[in-house]
Amino acid sequence: MGEFELIRHLSEGIELKNPTSKKGIGDDAAVIENGDVATIVSTDMLVEGIHFDLTFHPLKHLGYKSVTVNLSDIYAMNAIPKQIVVGVAFSNRFSLEAIEELYSGIRLACEKYNVDLVGGDTTSSTSGLIISITAIGTAKKENVVYRNGAKENDLLCVSGDLGGAYVGLQLLEREKKIFLENPKIQPDLSGADYILERQLKPEAQKELIEKLHELNIKPTSMIDISDGLSSEALHLSTQSNVGCNIFESKIPIDPQTYDRAREFGLDPTVCALNGGEDYELLFTIAQSDYEVIREHLDISIIGHMTDKSAGYHLIDKSDNVVELRAQGWEVKVKS
Ligand code: ADP
Ligand code: MG
Repeated sequence: MGEFELIRHLSEGIELKNPTSKKGIGDDAAVIENGDVATIVSTDMLVEGIHFDLTFHPLKHLGYKSVTVNLSDIYAMNAIPKQIVVGVAFSNRFSLEAIEELYSGIRLACEKYNVDLVGGDTTSSTSGLIISITAIGTAKKENVVYRNGAKENDLLCVSGDLGGAYVGLQLLEREKKIFLENPKIQPDLSGADYILERQLKPEAQKELIEKLHELNIKPTSMIDISDGLSSEALHLSTQSNVGCNIFESKIPIDPQTYDRAREFGLDPTVCALNGGEDYELLFTIAQSDYEVIREHLDISIIGHMTDKSAGYHLIDKSDNVVELRAQGWEVKVKS
């Protein structure tokens, strides 16, 4: 059973009893309405050995990342994060200094994103480190953006660039393997700062959301890219009941990501489509907002939404039409 299937199974038949529970399971965050103000809540757990590897993830960066990945879900609702609650569980292999390092990263992210750390829970674990963070944000009720509002002909936009976090992880894993085989060889991470940072210390899209508010532009749908462009574009499309066309040539990929992907025999486009952990925002806007977006925002328009019956497609650089699948894209290995 896949993750999404399991969530669907577990949440079957859950009904929202309180009128204040505006949105439950199924979006980047839950939405609780009290009068004109919506409170936005999201939680994410990071588990050692599953989400991070402490042999190459500095604890301070890990603390920072565990906050930003949560804030990302709040921004994805077009809301502003205000508070976080932090739960940690750690085994006796962690020193006080190590936990302090983790917290220095958590504090740094709170500082940068103007978020208050208002509580949490501390406990022990038999197997390593677990960090669970809940982020709370606010928005005007009418400003909340869901995954399900995209309309046919809306433009599909993405912030920043994609694939870097995945390629960064490939590099870290390769160097770890070399080191374990021969500890005399020092890891060679030179010239890879950008992709390493994308993997180890990602940012949430605060500026974009603030800019959209300033420009008075409300996306019709939005999601953050934690699982790869393919998967997220499918979420927006299926939940909005529309199809989509994405143009490969429009997918933003940083030159460092591109070159390093090639070095690993990976197709950079596949890294963007299936890699994940980029924490950029994928959103749709009405065509009438195009001029303002083009003039004021540093984002990429990578495609558009279509009638549902047209399906979900990637138009590749040779104009071939490929069906978009969450995991269907095989990684082409070039020698
Ligand atoms: P994201 O990638 O944006 O963090 P997820 O794929 O983790 O979103 O979750 C999708 C939806 O399912 C969210 O609304 C989330 O709150 C909900 N969800 C995930 N796990 C559980 C669970 N164990 N019980 C109830 N709801 C869950
Ligand atoms: Mg999300």
